[in-house]
Amino acid sequence: MLLSATVSAKTISIESLNAKSTVKIKLYVLDCGTIQARDMSLFNPLLSTRKPMNMAVPCYVIKHPTKGILVWDAGLQDDIAKSSHGVEAHQGVFHLTVKRTMLSQLKEIGVEPKNVTYFAPSHLHLDHSGNANYFTQSKLLMQNSDYQLAFSKDAAKYGFDVNHYFELKSAEHVPLNGDYDVFGDGSTIILSTPGHSPGHQSLYLKLVKTGDVILSGDLYHFAENRANYGIPVWNDKKQTIQSFAKIDHILDNTSASLWIQHDPEEAKLKNMSPNFYD
Ligand SMILES: [Zn+2]
Repeated sequence: MLLSATVSAKTISIESLNAKSTVKIKLYVLDCGTIQARDMSLFNPLLSTRKPMNMAVPCYVIKHPTKGILVWDAGLQDDIAKSSHGVEAHQGVFHLTVKRTMLSQLKEIGVEPKNVTYFAPSHLHLDHSGNANYFTQSKLLMQNSDYQLAFSKDAAKYGFDVNHYFELKSAEHVPLNGDYDVFGDGSTIILSTPGHSPGHQSLYLKLVKTGDVILSGDLYHFAENRANYGIPVWNDKKQTIQSFAKIDHILDNTSASLWIQHDPEEAKLKNMSPNFYD
C-alpha cells in the first residue's frame, strides 16, 4: 500500500459540534465598514440584475471567560475613516467606507490589540485583513494553504494585498490543516471551507444563551448566494461546492444558525458592540 504524501485535513465530527457547551463565551459584532459593489452579479453570476449593492463588513470579537480573546476578521482599513466619503478600490469596482474605526470599537469593549490572544481571518481579502497588522502579537490561526500563499509571489493572483497584512509575518502562526478547536473546549471551532480562497475558513460558536451560530466568512456573500448556490466569479468552483455541502450537512444536523457576514439585510438586525451575544 502506498502512503499518501499529504496529511489529510482534520474534520470535526457532528457529534462534537452537538456536544453541549457550558463555557460562557461572548460574541461582539463590530462595524468594520461598508463595501458598495457596483455590480453585485460578480458575487453571484446566477442573478440577472447587475445593480450595485452595499455589503456590510463586520468583524467580531469572541471573549472566552478564562482563555483569552479571539478576533475574527479585521474589516476594512481604519485609515479609510479619514475620507468622509470613502475611497474607491479595484479601479472603481468597489467603493469603501468606514464610519467608525475598529480600534475605537475594540477600545470601547476594553480590548487592546496587544491583548488579543488569537487572530483568525476567514481569508485575507481587503475587507477581512484591513487592520490585520494590529494583531502581530496574537497567535495567527490560518490554514497553512492561505498562509503560504499570502507571503508568496502569487498572493495578488488570489486577490490578497500584502500591504494589509505584511506585519503578520512576525506573528506566531499556528498552521491549520482543516477544522480547529480554538480554545480546546469545543466552544469555538474553525471550520475549513475552501473555495473563495484556498484556505478560506468559517467559525462555529456555541453561545450558551443565543445558541450555536456559524460565521460564514465569505462562503456566502448574500442570502441569494445560499438560496441559489451562486458562486462568485473568482472562486474555485469545485472547492466551493464541497464547502457548501459541508456547511449544509452541519446546518442539517446541528441546531446552528448561519450568519452571512456581508448580507446587508441580516446586518441591520444585529445587536452591535458594545452589546454582545452570549
Ligand atoms: Zn468579503
